[in-house]
Amino acid sequence: MNEDKVYDCAIIGGGLAGLCLSIQLAQKGFDVVLIEKNSYPFHKVCGEYISLESWDFLTRLGIPLEQMNLPIIKNLSITSENGFKVSALLDLGGFGISRFNLDEKLATRAKQVGVLLLENTTAKNVTLENDIYTITTNSLKLKSKLAFGSFGKISPSFISGENSAKKGAYLGVKYHIKTTFPNDLIELHNFKDGYCGISKIDNDTYCLCYLTTVKNLKDNSNSIYEMEKNVLMKNPYLKKIFTESTFLFDKPLAISQIGFNKKKTYTNNLIMLGDAAGAIAPLCGNGMSIALRTSHFLSEYVAKFLEHKISKQELIDKYNKQWNANFSTRIKTGFYLQELLGKNFLTLMSLKFLNAFPNVLNKLISLTHGKSF
Ligand SMILES: Cc1cc2nc3c(=O)[nH]c(=O)nc-3n(C[C@H](O)[C@H](O)[C@H](O)COP(=O)(O)OP(=O)(O)OC[C@H]3O[C@@H](n4cnc5c(N)ncnc54)[C@H](O)[C@@H]3O)c2cc1C
Repeated sequence: MNEDKVYDCAIIGGGLAGLCLSIQLAQKGFDVVLIEKNSYPFHKVCGEYISLESWDFLTRLGIPLEQMNLPIIKNLSITSENGFKVSALLDLGGFGISRFNLDEKLATRAKQVGVLLLENTTAKNVTLENDIYTITTNSLKLKSKLAFGSFGKISPSFISGENSAKKGAYLGVKYHIKTTFPNDLIELHNFKDGYCGISKIDNDTYCLCYLTTVKNLKDNSNSIYEMEKNVLMKNPYLKKIFTESTFLFDKPLAISQIGFNKKKTYTNNLIMLGDAAGAIAPLCGNGMSIALRTSHFLSEYVAKFLEHKISKQELIDKYNKQWNANFSTRIKTGFYLQELLGKNFLTLMSLKFLNAFPNVLNKLISLTHGKSF
């Protein structure tokens, strides 16, 4: 590899945000390098329910969703720890697909359209001198005109300030399971200090994924199994799922110390996107769509900059303005909704209220989602 070459764009992190940005920029004719520390395919902690707002976009990028026989999810149920249930029809709805499958399909597409995709490569540092970035990785150095941070919720150690890696209070756990469950339903089950989602994905499999506090784990001898037995299974719906399903992973897939604090869209000289620019509470089920939509409008501004139609400062300002216009309300609503869940009495009262006023529930769901793009 020629380390003196100056790429148009270097993107750090090949999740949905980084992969989709790289594909769109390469399709516009730019020279793009994408750095990913893992190698595809690999599993990720994620509920794997994607809002249908992203269907057309992913199809346009070249992912043949129509041919993949994916479950379309139109119904939502939420339960309290003692088993009180509220149901609603989802206005827009979503579809289920594993990250193992989706990220790999996007990575293959990125290579097809000319992205230089460096797997097993970890970004260690970024410097900017005379308008040229140097990205140092575990194995090589790269130069580029622009550099992007799409490294997800947990920032690398070279990021300082508001976007730096802070020890968040939450833990995410995911399983793939075989079970008996409707194809078109997503359920969100509450338990003390957390909630657990279940919905169908590809391959006749279901994704079972929950978010709780690190404290909950500590209080249960740091054992995920103890916590599931002592805390999650108090909810009768979760007890049934945990005791009557076949679990396909050897052990739970977990990420710990995640947080949902406010972040900046430009810092440490990097343009941030996806969770690196700010993560929405998982219960809203549209963090992935935020990552995808961001890559869409960001790619337009980047093209204008590289074609000398706007300055770098204009790129940064326009992107930040559009990011806030699109996502500030969603993220705030998600944060307040998350505060209502996982608190036994408060959750039960909130669900009883939503059961009595179903229009409020529909309004809340629509506030956390966007239109097709
Ligand atoms: C428990 C839980 C459940 C969720 N459920 C849903 C859901 O059902 N629906 C939904 O829409 N959203 C959900 N989300 C949110 C969703 O997973 C994220 O919003 C989405 O993955 C963000 O994509 P991203 O590309 O920003 O980050 P990621 O997908 O996390 O990708 C970041 C990539 O960067 C790589 N990386 C990190 N550091 C470096 C480095 N230094 N060098 C090179 N590579 C690096 C990582 O390996 C990773 O591949 C959930 C989140 C959690 C925590």
